[in-house]
Amino acid sequence: MADRFCTLEWAYRVGFNSLATPLWRVSMTKVLRRNIVRFRRYRLLKRLEYSSSEGLSIYQGQRLRKLLEYGLATPRAEKEGGAHLFRAEGLLPAQILKTLPILQKEVVQKKLASLVSAKGRTRRSIEDRTSGSTGAPTIFIRDLACLDAERAAAELFYRDWLGRERREPVARIWATEADQAPTGEKVGGFFRKRISEIWLSAFNLNDADMADFFKLWQSHEPSILIGYPEAVFECAKYLRRNRIRIPHLKGIVTAGAKLFPEMRSEVERSFMAPVLERYGSRETGLVAMECLEGRRLHVVAPNVYVEILNESGAPALPGEEGSVVVTPFYSYKMPFLRYVMGDRAKWALDQACVCGRSWPVIEEIVGRAQDCFRLRDGGTVSGMLGYYIMRDCFDFSKISQFQFIQESYERVTAQIQLSMPHDEPDREFFDAIVKARDRFSQSMGPNCSIHFKFVDHIPRLSSGKHRYLMSLVD
Ligand SMILES: [Zn+2]
Repeated sequence: MADRFCTLEWAYRVGFNSLATPLWRVSMTKVLRRNIVRFRRYRLLKRLEYSSSEGLSIYQGQRLRKLLEYGLATPRAEKEGGAHLFRAEGLLPAQILKTLPILQKEVVQKKLASLVSAKGRTRRSIEDRTSGSTGAPTIFIRDLACLDAERAAAELFYRDWLGRERREPVARIWATEADQAPTGEKVGGFFRKRISEIWLSAFNLNDADMADFFKLWQSHEPSILIGYPEAVFECAKYLRRNRIRIPHLKGIVTAGAKLFPEMRSEVERSFMAPVLERYGSRETGLVAMECLEGRRLHVVAPNVYVEILNESGAPALPGEEGSVVVTPFYSYKMPFLRYVMGDRAKWALDQACVCGRSWPVIEEIVGRAQDCFRLRDGGTVSGMLGYYIMRDCFDFSKISQFQFIQESYERVTAQIQLSMPHDEPDREFFDAIVKARDRFSQSMGPNCSIHFKFVDHIPRLSSGKHRYLMSLVD
């Protein structure tokens, strides 16, 4: 399957529309056309980067109106009577959007055909799928326009916000089923015989692979590093442990998981470069990216419409935590209208940023909605409790990885992998455990016990990501 998706990506790059296309029909016109489209999207993003909030709202309204023409022509929208809304007098596109039901991942998984727009049937697209880190992989149809918009945003981020020149290599510590490759080099571009990327597989990080990776690093001198936070964190500790200094790096971009503040400072110290967060998903493309000047997470407003909804489904107030719901503007063939990302976040109280960009600011992506401890009375406790326990009760520098597993309402096991694998936990650790148990009971109540277990290795998910909390309770 992985090969197939790599091939699809390659096919897309060189202008195939489907794998059934014979080789002789690879069209250079198509390649050129895609590049022109991406360049136009990039220019548009640049033009709207510092536009006024009003100008941005007007632009978003235009994009939403076009998307709704496609979105309300799906079997699901017609069944739910949404089509008539489009003809409703006096409603702005954003108001129409907010009357539509939210779209859960399960609907995409089970009723894919009901989400395909009759109007967008002839649009160019690829079948894609998520890594499955939040459960079963989701298969969906990705409009090529959506891919173009994402690439344009990435170009803006890496080139303009981070300062990466076009020909500078990138280092990547990554692993998804669709993109996986062994540690090594990648030749970039169809016609460019040069190394554009060095790669470290995040599936199973070990000292030997990290040593190879940093040897490659010294010869290629990448200007930016992209990776999962916990994998980048592992590499930062490896650098410190082995006293390795790396050539100047312009920035580190993390994505795909929560970046804890301690991890950020350790990574910045070891790599001597700023860490910026990127937020998005395979289904929606890039949703938000952090600016270097203000270190704040800006929504890519010309590409996506973002809502944060509170428990009652109403828009969350600034500073109030809620569920992230995203509508990517270019998903014409299979419109993702109000797609629930499964993450929790809050809007910043102060939307002004020193960088001067008008794109809305998200204060923080708090974490995945499902990452919480569950109580027997139906209540939940944020999964951040696990992180705070580890940070406040233990010596964080001696811990390589941790994972909380809630086995039942009454029992949680905390697995700890030490930084030095052959170290035995000392007296200090046992004192910390007593403190951690107290802290845990204060939040979870006296009926839930916590057990600490020191392990040599905490396995990663098939996506290569690490989960800090796994709940086996429904
Ligand atoms: Zn900013």
